Amino acid sequence: MIQTVHKVMIIEDDVGISSLLASQGISMNLDVNCANCVKDAMDHLKNYEPDLVLLDLGLPDADGKTFIKTFRLKSDNPILVISSRTQESEKVDALNAGADDYLTKPFGLNELKARINALLRRHQTINNAANLMKLGDIEVDWARRIITKKGDPVNLSPIEFEILNILATSRGKVVTHRNLLAKVWGGAHTDDHHYLRIYMGHLRKKLEHDPTQPQYLLTVAGVGYRLEV
Ligand code: CA
Repeated sequence: MIQTVHKVMIIEDDVGISSLLASQGISMNLDVNCANCVKDAMDHLKNYEPDLVLLDLGLPDADGKTFIKTFRLKSDNPILVISSRTQESEKVDALNAGADDYLTKPFGLNELKARINALLRRHQTINNAANLMKLGDIEVDWARRIITKKGDPVNLSPIEFEILNILATSRGKVVTHRNLLAKVWGGAHTDDHHYLRIYMGHLRKKLEHDPTQPQYLLTVAGVGYRLEV
């Protein structure tokens, strides 16, 4: 079996951190590409398709969120934001823009490694899942990651897709907030309920006829969420 080498793009203007991230990537047998500003990253994207992006937010030519929005137009591969900004609003904005996870500087190398592995593994698992699901006029082809609603394609981000996948695996049964957060974002995030509120909002907007009166993605107050089938 051929082992695929994952490609990671590092977008960071601090040379010290950039080389730390690069050496960590190399030690994990990843193919590494470094950019030091948003423009540089856009240029590299013409010839380099990363499986994962490690992104700083404070870049010299633009805010990293600009990159997230542009990248999301052509790829749903995972983005891990690595930033010294600690406010919850910064995290929410980055996640809303399409980032998959957020790591605050200074960070430990073990945590960085765990987050990178989790993001790459999740992407792989999603790519490998193989079955179909029907919810009213919504059809989900897990293997090909194709979702349609009344035959029209619906685009889900990797995290939205994974949340739907976890709820579908336990369909009809409640999945607790903690359980969902741990599975999607890791054990350090089990109290970050705002992550779930944001992503369930996205999912409902994309899949439900009336997001305020969901038929499928149900809230179990104070406990978690349930996929009604
Ligand atoms: Ca910076």
